[in-house]
Amino acid sequence: MSKSCLIIGGGIAGLTSALALQKTGITPTIHELRASPSTIGGSINLTPNALRLLEFLDVEIQGCRVDSIEIFSLHSGKLIGEVPFRKFGPSVRILREELLKALLRAVERSGIEVNYGEKLVGVVEDDGEEKVTAVFENGKRVKGDFMLGCDGVHSAVRKYVEASRGPEYTGVVVAYSIVEAPGIKTHFRSTALNSGRCGSLLTSYFDEDRARIYVGAVMEIKEENDKQGWRVRGSDTQKTRDEIERRYKNSAIPCVDELVQKVEDFVFYPVYKLSPGGVWSKGRVLLLGDAAHAMPPQGESTGLAIEDGVLLARVMASASEKPIQEAFRVYEKTRRSRIDIAYKEAVMRWENVKDRSWFSQKVIEWLMWIVLWYRRNPFELSMSYDIRQEEILE
Ligand SMILES: Cc1cc2nc3c(=O)[nH]c(=O)nc-3n(C[C@H](O)[C@H](O)[C@H](O)COP(=O)(O)OP(=O)(O)OC[C@H]3O[C@@H](n4cnc5c(N)ncnc54)[C@H](O)[C@@H]3O)c2cc1C
Repeated sequence: MSKSCLIIGGGIAGLTSALALQKTGITPTIHELRASPSTIGGSINLTPNALRLLEFLDVEIQGCRVDSIEIFSLHSGKLIGEVPFRKFGPSVRILREELLKALLRAVERSGIEVNYGEKLVGVVEDDGEEKVTAVFENGKRVKGDFMLGCDGVHSAVRKYVEASRGPEYTGVVVAYSIVEAPGIKTHFRSTALNSGRCGSLLTSYFDEDRARIYVGAVMEIKEENDKQGWRVRGSDTQKTRDEIERRYKNSAIPCVDELVQKVEDFVFYPVYKLSPGGVWSKGRVLLLGDAAHAMPPQGESTGLAIEDGVLLARVMASASEKPIQEAFRVYEKTRRSRIDIAYKEAVMRWENVKDRSWFSQKVIEWLMWIVLWYRRNPFELSMSYDIRQEEILE
């Protein structure tokens, strides 16, 4: 009989792991906290390796094709570096909301059940019965053969798997907005990272017809607010605009000022991470995506979340007769090294977005091409990586 899988969280990891598992004959059911698919979230970079997996999962994506990320100096306006994707196929920038919609269309076509308004509050394992039960805030209880915690960095499932590992605020916030593109003379082809000593400003098209521009200010803000606090801060558009102007004004790039002036509202997205390593599974429960390994954003987190589900499906298919705990052990053994490398890389790149002195910024600008050239090997390895070819370590 086909195994049943309870997937907690209908974000990117939850929806893609459901699609991957269903291909192997497992029956997934998704349980999502929100009352309907989330419409918040900024633009997301889908790297060539992530796009290959989405195609494999029959997910049709429309967004803005990005052949390279251009890096500009806010101070001089000069191009100081470029991260090219072309060699590996294009990458695509897309709104998180649009990616979710595309995934949900594929999930619907596959006949996978998605339940909204179901907040997980407890996990119960009954060894005698070899089942796991999800307990929801609305009183509903559902049993399955195994459970996946795909509930993001603030995961409730992780409290069951490893209560001591919680989210840590990185000290950095992304304040983002969307601006109508017509009339704005941009300095970039598709996506630009505009680097300054008080943070970076990401400016990018994200839809096929380039009708709108995403503006995301990456800023070091030391104090941590609760959810309500971030909401209040985000809704104070004038205060946020003043803060952004203080950081990015007098740029040699004219469209930066123009874009900031055109913003009507900012959304504040405080960035959280988990400590590296950690425990990923307990009994019949496994963590995937940000719930297992949230790291500082490095433009590849979405791809990593998709890889998790595709690898798990491969392991489950090859270990269908073995106990579930054994399949989780094999999954983890195979997966750890790629995640550990990505984590180190993310931490290294993340240090560059924090505030720094005028002199350090100058040095970074002088050395950018050299650093990118020196770091090309791990980047190329990551872009050409295919989890479907990864050797499964028994
Ligand atoms: C609202 C939102 C906005 C985001 N915006 C950005 C952005 O602008 N830029 C960026 O780089 N990344 C953003 N992210 C994070 C990005 O989506 C993830 O880093 C990455 O895609 C990994 O996906 P994930 O599925 O592991 O986690 P997530 O995308 O965080 O998805 C987790 C899902 O689990 C659900 N959930 C949480 N707790 C429970 C519970 N107790 N019971 C049931 N369901 C639960 C959440 O509602 C969510 O749908 C955002 C995430 C969210 C949830």
